Amino acid sequence: MSELQRSTAAELAGLIGSGQASSREITQAHLDRIEAVDGDVRAFLHVDGERALAAADAVDARRAAGEALGPLAGVPLAVKDVFCLTGAPTTAGSRILEGWHPPYNATVTQRVLDAGLVVLGKTNLDEFAMGSSTENSGYFATHNPWDLERIPGGSGGGSAAALAAFEAPLALGTDTGGSIRQPAAVTGTVGVKPTYGGTSRYGVIAMASSLDQPGPCGRTVLDTALLHAVIAGWDPRDSTSIDAPVPDVVAAARAADVSGMKLGVVKELSGEGYAPGVEQRFGAALAALAEAGAEIVEVSCPNFRYALGAYYLIMPSEVSSNLARFDAMRYGLRVGDDGTAGAEQVMALTRDAGFGAEVKRRIIIGTYALSSGYYDAYYGSAQKARTLIARDFERAFSTVDVLVSPSTPSTAFRIGERTDDPLAMYAADLCTIPSNMAGNAAGSFPCGLSPEDGLPVGFQVMAPVLADDRVYRVGAALEHALAGQFGGVLTDQLWAREHGAAQNGGAR
Ligand code: GLN
Repeated sequence: MSELQRSTAAELAGLIGSGQASSREITQAHLDRIEAVDGDVRAFLHVDGERALAAADAVDARRAAGEALGPLAGVPLAVKDVFCLTGAPTTAGSRILEGWHPPYNATVTQRVLDAGLVVLGKTNLDEFAMGSSTENSGYFATHNPWDLERIPGGSGGGSAAALAAFEAPLALGTDTGGSIRQPAAVTGTVGVKPTYGGTSRYGVIAMASSLDQPGPCGRTVLDTALLHAVIAGWDPRDSTSIDAPVPDVVAAARAADVSGMKLGVVKELSGEGYAPGVEQRFGAALAALAEAGAEIVEVSCPNFRYALGAYYLIMPSEVSSNLARFDAMRYGLRVGDDGTAGAEQVMALTRDAGFGAEVKRRIIIGTYALSSGYYDAYYGSAQKARTLIARDFERAFSTVDVLVSPSTPSTAFRIGERTDDPLAMYAADLCTIPSNMAGNAAGSFPCGLSPEDGLPVGFQVMAPVLADDRVYRVGAALEHALAGQFGGVLTDQLWAREHGAAQNGGAR
């Protein structure tokens, strides 16, 4: 069983295709793993083993009948609990949605189901995807498999932790300011935020609609690209979805070739506030990519310094509007409805009881930023900064193929360390937010362990709008270049720690 738990999604698909393993065996192996470790990791809010095994059996039956299967059919998947999935609770990590069952599937969930992926369950997240550690979850915090005292990142910490703990070979995430990339960075896994409009937001519980983007998470670059190809592409149900061909991300991941590519190191995303161990590993990754044939230059994006400030005006403004729908009437929780209380009172009591402190903070900030008299000074100025950031990207991409930076300024911090300091928490997204503001594609790839604390460091690749393939090309080249140092992909070290497998040369 344990070999099945350790295998990549591509390997598992190969085993299913050739009949060497059934989807049921593979699914059972991952359910066993969840049973064994999730009491410590707490990646999942909800696991449905019966449903998963039934889905696995359906794929096995289709294979037995000689049907041609898609490239990931029968492979298990963990789903961030912000995607609507029928027949299961969807909470967005909030008590206000406790017990709510969505009446329809998100387009992304529908696509993974149609492709024959086997949903294991729903993963934990910061409430309504607001946070960088999963500590804002209305249920419990998730722990980082590299060190259970540390955060797995956020908001998609559950998905990232499930991957690093080998509970699932693939996972879905959403990224509004870094919620796919920052968890990937601090868990030594891969996560990509597609170009805005590249994946459908239909049926994904909205945080900030002009920034939210669903995306794939995996332990290897190829696995992540395979999932990207399944979920991406135009959806008439999402008005911001782009009606254009999806870049061939799988071919780019297979090519893994950076020779002749020009990589721009963003000057503003380093220096003060960045952990020396992060900068050291980032520098080593650059050297490896240069060795692989990339040209490395420094690029200045001066307006990136406004990104965090502008994000914390635009995002809460959209949050204040999007979360107005949780009014105690239509979904989930209802408090104080004793037959005499008025609707407004029930609404107030419900929102007070159902929303956590961070969500309330953002609703209040957003409502203030949008209020008449302050709108121009706050929301309006932030939108201008957003345009300047997009122009920095445009200028940079006229001279380089991709931009690169560390994915986040530090490695995984300790659980509890930043809960009383929202600004320290927000700083985790310093490097990732610019790409949400501009809507371009970006991903985080493992680049080794920090010599300071032995924890994973992420390398961020940012590519122009609709050039998502470049993110994978560079990520895969980095994975290849560093494979010798890691003994395979980075998470193999974590597996080896537990299983005593060969650290060097033991991997694929
Ligand atoms: N950590 C960021 C925030 O708290 C990003 C969240 C996200 O991408 N969903 O807003």
